[in-house]
Amino acid sequence: MYRVTLIPGDGIGPEVTEAAKRVIDSTGIQIHWDILDASEALLKETFNSPERNRVALKGPITTPVGKGFRSINVMLRSKYDLYINLRPIISIPGIKTPFDGIDLVIFRENTEDIYCGIEYMKEPGKAEAIKTITEYASERIARSAFEYAAKHGRRKVTVVHKANILKMSDGLFLETAGRVSKAYPMIEFEDIIIDNMCMQLVTKPERYDVILTMNLYGDILSDLCAGLVGGLGFAPSANIGKDMAIFEAVHGSAPDIAGKGIANPTAIILSGAMMLDYLGEKQGAERIRKAVLKTIEGQRVLTADMGGTAATKEFTEAVINNL
Ligand code: ATP
Repeated sequence: MYRVTLIPGDGIGPEVTEAAKRVIDSTGIQIHWDILDASEALLKETFNSPERNRVALKGPITTPVGKGFRSINVMLRSKYDLYINLRPIISIPGIKTPFDGIDLVIFRENTEDIYCGIEYMKEPGKAEAIKTITEYASERIARSAFEYAAKHGRRKVTVVHKANILKMSDGLFLETAGRVSKAYPMIEFEDIIIDNMCMQLVTKPERYDVILTMNLYGDILSDLCAGLVGGLGFAPSANIGKDMAIFEAVHGSAPDIAGKGIANPTAIILSGAMMLDYLGEKQGAERIRKAVLKTIEGQRVLTADMGGTAATKEFTEAVINNL
């Protein structure tokens, strides 16, 4: 029996996490779910006590734009030092997009960059924000990306930066990645400037394999790449630290469709499959991925964002029947 923390989140979060929980439970893998709201997960020991849960499945949590509190998502990642944000982007057969056969993985550094939240009004009419890049954090994310590439038979790591302008900060990230790459001579290593990368990705995405980048560029590239495979409804992710992990969809709380029961739960269901992989339940994870593909490609049970009319519940039930 595993113990997993479930954070439903807000907006479409409760609808899609419920779908993922039902699918995971239907694999027969025994999980005791501790359901917490996000602020409880920040405060309580349930999630970080060593003998208890070291894994969470989390729905999106709205961060107000402009004013208000710091992002709870960012606080959770930094409190538990979840330094890897792993975002696989894979074409889904049956979802029509201009590209087929995309299979890439984004390794986004998850603890620093401008997400440290150091911003101030220098004087009226002049705001400043600080971007922090350390050799320590750059090295551990670069090593994770190369280790992943080596373990999964990937051919290339592409580091994305803007070191032509940010010579010290992005320069340090780039230089560190280059140094780490020396230990992996069998894996091709290249670097590319972020603006060029955006253009390359929307014209020749098949050129890329493992993408290694800093926090902000990784955030933006993830949404761009989700668009390449049919939208945010399909992009799962994992936030991984030394011995803890939080799994969540790339998408936000989608307030425009919240409460309507029409959200696409694929991203969080696939995040749940990544969670099962992490727990060592590879077979369960694979069954979930196959059931999702059969539902979409084989049976054409499609939610509105996929061009269909199925509600979240109908889609979820189809996935469960296909397990
Ligand atoms: P955040 O800043 O919190 O990451 P965001 O600005 O990326 O949020 P989302 O909340 O992810 O925005 O939504 C962007 C658009 O994608 C919205 O129109 C939303 O309805 C749609 N969308 C996001 N997730 C889903 C989903 N699971 N199913 C269907 N549509 C979705």
